[in-house]
Amino acid sequence: MIMEALLVGVILFIASCLRYLLMVGAYYGVVYVFFKEQLHKFKINKEFPEYNMIKQEIYWGLVNNINFFLLGVALYFLYQNGMLKIYTDINEYGWFYAIAIIPVLLVLHDAYFFWSHYLMHRPWFRKYSHHHIHHMFHNVSPWAAFSVHPVEGFIEVLVRPIILMLIPLHPYTIAVFAIITFTLNIIGHSGYEFFPKNYATSEFTKIKSCATFHYQHHKNGNYNFGLFLNVWDRLMGTLHPDYEKDFEESSKHNPIEIPMNTKSGLHSLSNLFKTFRW
Ligand SMILES: [Zn+2]
Ligand SMILES: [Zn+2]
Repeated sequence: MIMEALLVGVILFIASCLRYLLMVGAYYGVVYVFFKEQLHKFKINKEFPEYNMIKQEIYWGLVNNINFFLLGVALYFLYQNGMLKIYTDINEYGWFYAIAIIPVLLVLHDAYFFWSHYLMHRPWFRKYSHHHIHHMFHNVSPWAAFSVHPVEGFIEVLVRPIILMLIPLHPYTIAVFAIITFTLNIIGHSGYEFFPKNYATSEFTKIKSCATFHYQHHKNGNYNFGLFLNVWDRLMGTLHPDYEKDFEESSKHNPIEIPMNTKSGLHSLSNLFKTFRW
């Protein structure tokens, strides 16, 4: 039983290292290497991070994966004791549930992250969580997506078994959720703003976070504690006062513009139909 638990831990550790190296590596390769010149105008901070800092990001990003080993071992024992609500027959709750639960998970995960992160910026908890490691990186690269001290990583990963004990989830949902959350994490640390104009002010997207939002947090740790959303920051008064202004600046080269509200959205849609009318 111990050997099986260790095996699950090792599998999850390898999977999470591969996820980190392949997904971040692909993003970094495309944006920072192959299209470096062409995409430079989208870079939030026009300087590139120092090579030494990127090496540090990768080091902590890999070390932090130890938490996925621990997660694998814990999940094995919880599963063996019937404490996880994971189900394997997709028809048990249906496809609609398997997909519709994802946004709910994102909201829950974001709330957990906001509050744990907010506490990590209080002096006593900051010391014990070692959150300063993640804040060594001011001009972030996508490699910072996972670069935290393992103690902080442990706090962050703790929400996963809690969710799995409370909410019935199919392995497909878990896999898609893991990919979405990691992709959003990479985008948040990418250092490039590719989201369209009006994203920070449009009623469709303004509550969601973006690269500029998290870049501001790395520049000034008093603001922007959210992960996927900025709802808690708005409620707690910790949204960066220059968020909209800085977003406008970092997205100024983006030719794509999204509607500000439903009315202007419908107007653009009707114009689009007129364009394609015979
Ligand atoms: Zn960060
Ligand atoms: Zn922080």
